[in-house]
Amino acid sequence: MLAEIKGLNEECGVFAVWGHNDAPQITYYGLHALQHRGQEATGMVVTNGKILDIYKGNGLVTEVFQEESLRNLKGCGSIGHVRYCTSGGGGSENIQPFLFRSSSTYDLALAHNGNLVNANVLKAELEKMGSIFHSTSDTEVLGHLIRRSTKKPFIDQVMESLVRLEGAFAYLIMKDDELIGARDPHGLRPLSLGRLGDGYILTSETCAFHVVGATFIRDIEPGELVWMNQEGIHFKRFAPKKIWAMCAMEYVYFARPDSDVDGANVHSTRKKMGKYLAQETSVDADVVIGVPDSSISCAVGYAEQSGIPYELGLIKNRYVARTFIQPSQALREQGVKMKLSPVRSIVEGKRVIMVDDSIVRGTTSRRIVNLLREAGATEVHVRIGCPPIRFPCFYGIDTSTKEELISAKFSNEEVRKLIGADSLEYLSEQALIRAVQEEVNSSENQGLCMACYTGQYPTALFGLDQEKEEKIKI
Ligand code: AMP
Ligand code: SF4
Repeated sequence: MLAEIKGLNEECGVFAVWGHNDAPQITYYGLHALQHRGQEATGMVVTNGKILDIYKGNGLVTEVFQEESLRNLKGCGSIGHVRYCTSGGGGSENIQPFLFRSSSTYDLALAHNGNLVNANVLKAELEKMGSIFHSTSDTEVLGHLIRRSTKKPFIDQVMESLVRLEGAFAYLIMKDDELIGARDPHGLRPLSLGRLGDGYILTSETCAFHVVGATFIRDIEPGELVWMNQEGIHFKRFAPKKIWAMCAMEYVYFARPDSDVDGANVHSTRKKMGKYLAQETSVDADVVIGVPDSSISCAVGYAEQSGIPYELGLIKNRYVARTFIQPSQALREQGVKMKLSPVRSIVEGKRVIMVDDSIVRGTTSRRIVNLLREAGATEVHVRIGCPPIRFPCFYGIDTSTKEELISAKFSNEEVRKLIGADSLEYLSEQALIRAVQEEVNSSENQGLCMACYTGQYPTALFGLDQEKEEKIKI
């Protein structure tokens, strides 16, 4: 039930092309590069300058788009989306992009990464005025707001509508002859602009630029939109920049190491987190190992700082679905076993420091500590590259409900016992902030959202509706 009512656009990726004759094909490669942000469903809407065409489905990018479907998509502009949704809360009506057809005005396509905290308030208001929603996703709200705007031209309709939204968003908004990319005033979700030939690319992560041969121009700023049409490219501010609060979990876990998020390379930032983690939580040991893939950079930083050698102590089987999306606890545990194998020759008879990026439910850490002991490790010291996650996220990252968060229910010492480690330590809040700020290539005072560690949410939460209540009850 929870999956049905909670935001169904958790942890997604968006990608757009404007002004290039191979827009659909480039979007395919771009979405493929963003696949780590969502493996459940994908889709794209394409424009040939007059008509919008849509193709979407459940599955990976390579599964949904076959050679023939891609060949049939033709256009010079397109927006695409990959979706990551937990515990089967899908439903094909929630696959993005959304396409709103109209016989009296223009067709409109939307793709969204993030989660709106005032979606239910706006939905109730819009339904009262007669809007009918096709999906349970909060994304659709923007489409109805734009449709109801009496402003002219299109850009003013979009600006007026964006101002009404609260929460996290990187939105792609396209009609036949215009494309807009917008980022929320707190900058909670990333959105970067690049150039490809005479055209432009918008993407959640810069790793997609390298894949399609584009060059980075700049990040869209919090509260800013970029707008492209036949006259070229324009930038507009639709809201004043609020306290900059980029999601810390993008750096910790979510983004790909070869991406730069708001100017900070993710690999370098994670390495620095590992460095500070070693400074703050040193322990005598023989080897440092990381949990593949997201913790490797942090483990390397830890090893470098501590002088303890980094070793490949765990091997990942790449052909198993992410453990997090398995619905039951029993299946999740089975998933971890299928996914990771310890290298006995590395860990046998050794005191091991096992670095992981985060603990959510505690399943992964408990299983890995067990695997390492089974493989002969004499001590297992767990080091985590972020502070304990004690609060749910309302901004589109599935860090689970408070009920399921192990650190919300138990003290650090209790968690240590539950996962069976000899010691357990976390990176401090200050060190995480310092690691990111030292890497961010900006003179601006860029802040982070740290709400899942601190409970201090950067936006108002607009009361507790059913979705939020489910997340915080314990
Ligand atoms: P858990 O086993 O529930 O403690 O999950 C922790 C593991 O899941 C860590 O090793 C992370 O790499 C990964 N992880 C952290 N946050 C998320 C998230 N929001 N979605 C999916 N996986 C995550
Ligand atoms: Fe990211 Fe946590 Fe903030 Fe959610 S609450 S946006 S996961 S830092």
